[in-house]
Amino acid sequence: MSILSVAQKLEILADAAKYDASCASSGTKRRDSLSGRKGGLGSTEGMGICHAYAPDGRCISLLKILLTNSCIFDCHYCINRQSSNVRRARFTVQEIVALTLNFYRRNYIEGLFLSSGIIRSPDYTMEQLIEVARTLREEHDFRGYIHLKTIPDADVELAHQAGLYADRLSINVELPTEQGLERLAPEKNGARIEGAMKDLRMAIEDMGDARKRYRHAPRFAPAGQSTQMIVGADGSDDRTILRRARSLYDKHALRRVYYSAFSPIPSPSSVLPLKRPPLLREHRLYQSDWMMRFYGFSVRDLEQATDPETGHLPLDIDPKLAWALRHREIFPVDVNKVAREMLLRVPGLGVRAVDRIVASRRERRLKLADVARLTNSIAKLRPFLIASDWRPLHLIDSVDLQRRLTPAATQLELFA
Ligand code: SF4
Repeated sequence: MSILSVAQKLEILADAAKYDASCASSGTKRRDSLSGRKGGLGSTEGMGICHAYAPDGRCISLLKILLTNSCIFDCHYCINRQSSNVRRARFTVQEIVALTLNFYRRNYIEGLFLSSGIIRSPDYTMEQLIEVARTLREEHDFRGYIHLKTIPDADVELAHQAGLYADRLSINVELPTEQGLERLAPEKNGARIEGAMKDLRMAIEDMGDARKRYRHAPRFAPAGQSTQMIVGADGSDDRTILRRARSLYDKHALRRVYYSAFSPIPSPSSVLPLKRPPLLREHRLYQSDWMMRFYGFSVRDLEQATDPETGHLPLDIDPKLAWALRHREIFPVDVNKVAREMLLRVPGLGVRAVDRIVASRRERRLKLADVARLTNSIAKLRPFLIASDWRPLHLIDSVDLQRRLTPAATQLELFA
């Protein structure tokens, strides 16, 4: 490995970390102050800073980097795999600590997201990651947010040490099925990955209990654990992905499952698909995940929103509308009478709007115009709701209801 400056390493290792979606920033257009005649101020292409949500719901900026993009494993979908022909770099522990502190003091970031390829062994790699977090916390009294990727094959004791310094720990399940993992990441093992998640869950719960009883018990990963699944690298359909996600939430009390649409990498392995799945697929999975966690939908309900033949969620309409169109017999529901749980199933109604409706209907019977004031848009709601002055008689049965509610397609730009 040639000698690289810290800035060069940052360029390589921040870029290599962008494939991890577990702290995804929202997409934006590429802009920078060097382009154009007049230059300008600011850039959206800054290296290594992403946005994530803290446990209290705040959006925070994180320095998102890898310790190294060298790896002894050869997962087919990964740009950092051993056989990949990419430029390699490796930070020292002290370099990451200095970068984090510098960025933090300049108010660029509120924390660190640190992952790594596997060097020498899972234990050695994990020790290096822990050493970064330990140095920041113990030697510099760093109070910012730390998210550490945990290597599933590392000793369980190391994961426990990591939890004493990190706010969040994550272990990637990588692929939705064991067969997919065997084919695309042969050195990884689904049982070992889930075993490590189970250990983490127990440690998080034990330490949480201890904190309730003893004020001075140490904090342990207070932001819990999360995972990431790659979508579209193997043949798994959305039904399979959602079933796996539900099972992971139930078994390991995960805070989040992140879905990352597979993106083709330079010099890809021949076992990978040539095309990335539509980004909208990732979005539909996030919407379904949200429905499971906040709207009371079971995985069975979501399966009913998928296409019976392909097992995929529709791309042209959102999963809540897809589910409602398959359950027309339940609708329309009376906005003045129906339980909150049922209101949450009405397409176009979010948690905030439902809570406003429930609070307002205690005071008076709601008309359609009242509902319109409490929500973002009434257009999608009309066929599904009865209000004191509105009863959609045949709307719900009309054969072209889906077409009427499908957003108009927009012309794509040829050169965008
Ligand atoms: S272990 Fe991680 S970094 Fe290494 S090849 Fe597999 S996915 Fe990539």
